[in-house]
Amino acid sequence: MTATTTTVSRLARNYAPLPVTLVAGDGAWVTDDEGRRYLDLLAGYSALNFGHRHPALVAAAHAQLDRLTLTSRAFDHDLLPRFADALAGLVGPLLASGPSGGDPLVLPMNTGAEAVETAIKAARKWGYEARGVAPDRATIVVAAGNFHGRTTTIVSFSDDADARTGFGPFTPGFRTVPFGDAAALRAALDETVVAVLLEPVQGEHGVVVPPDDYLPAVRAACDEAGVLLVADEIQSGLGRTGRTLACETWGVRPDLVTLGKALGGGILPVSAVVGRCDVLGVLTPGTHGSTFGGNPLACAVALAVVDLLAPGDVQAAAAARGRELGAALDAMADEGLVTGYRRLGLWAGLDVPHGTGRTACEAMLREGVLAKDTHGRTLRLAPPLTISPADLAEALTRTTTALRTLS
Ligand SMILES: *Cc1c(COP(=O)(O)O)cnc(C)c1O
Repeated sequence: MTATTTTVSRLARNYAPLPVTLVAGDGAWVTDDEGRRYLDLLAGYSALNFGHRHPALVAAAHAQLDRLTLTSRAFDHDLLPRFADALAGLVGPLLASGPSGGDPLVLPMNTGAEAVETAIKAARKWGYEARGVAPDRATIVVAAGNFHGRTTTIVSFSDDADARTGFGPFTPGFRTVPFGDAAALRAALDETVVAVLLEPVQGEHGVVVPPDDYLPAVRAACDEAGVLLVADEIQSGLGRTGRTLACETWGVRPDLVTLGKALGGGILPVSAVVGRCDVLGVLTPGTHGSTFGGNPLACAVALAVVDLLAPGDVQAAAAARGRELGAALDAMADEGLVTGYRRLGLWAGLDVPHGTGRTACEAMLREGVLAKDTHGRTLRLAPPLTISPADLAEALTRTTTALRTLS
């Protein structure tokens, strides 16, 4: 455990990493600069859903590196339509089709925040063109405790003081309601509202899973008001909850979904908005874009990601490992090592009784497991979905040992 790169560095100090310097990764395991191995229970905040250097993903990247890496969107390339078809094939059947039907569209970007920005822009433009909202009055309803990224517009509707303070003036046009309270959300839907933007499970807020009737009630309220439901599944999507989308848990079909993190296979940033053709269709040439969005290398990796998810085995494994995780968390709760936890699929937020989430992560580091705190006394577990049952059991034994040292 050395901290050389973090203590002696010209890096801006916008992160406070645990004192470990990683040099290699393989599946659920990473190795530090002293040769010590750790089980990775953060998995890049779900960007590493398939583990480190998944062979199929690395092979797809290697092959594409030898063919074509970047074209810009000024020219088409052979993988772009294949990527769009594959992603629409995976996710499209899980989305609302809209009043006029039609196949869903895919808009590729790079980072998650860019996908969220894209969804916001599409929803606003759709609101003006299709709903006749008065110019510059479009409102988007968001949930308290949200995390949608770090751009100026996105932190404008964050209620996390660290994310916001000092970064104003902020972008207007957002209205915040409590997460999990469908009546409050319904009451916020006036004639200026064009969309509701939610994480179906709030990851950064501590893996907060809403009541079972919440998202269906949100969907019904959006339908009655003629408002779009935009699901930010950048962290919750692509298998994490045991399903392709977390929204499936409650049988809810969003109008637009933002994807990112795992879409890049842990190799490079790839994000996308997938959704109703009448909504994404409002974006015409020149109105939105990205130099790197949908580049050949990104498409090659993301296509391989979609191929991994298409059969459903990864989602099933996540659900099975999730049940094993749940059993271990129950035992930790019985022993008083956690005061409570929330879990969906292979994803959990744990509240520790002593110290902070950070001190818990430091104790876990000493036992050879990597995790990340969220807020205060909460830490998050999100192992690679491909972790073996034996490795997961080992990781949870180590976690239990670490939490015992805190009490
Ligand atoms: C990580 C995350 C984002 C932002 O993604 P970046 O790639 O970091 O820009 C947006 N929404 C959710 C739900 C996330 O977890």
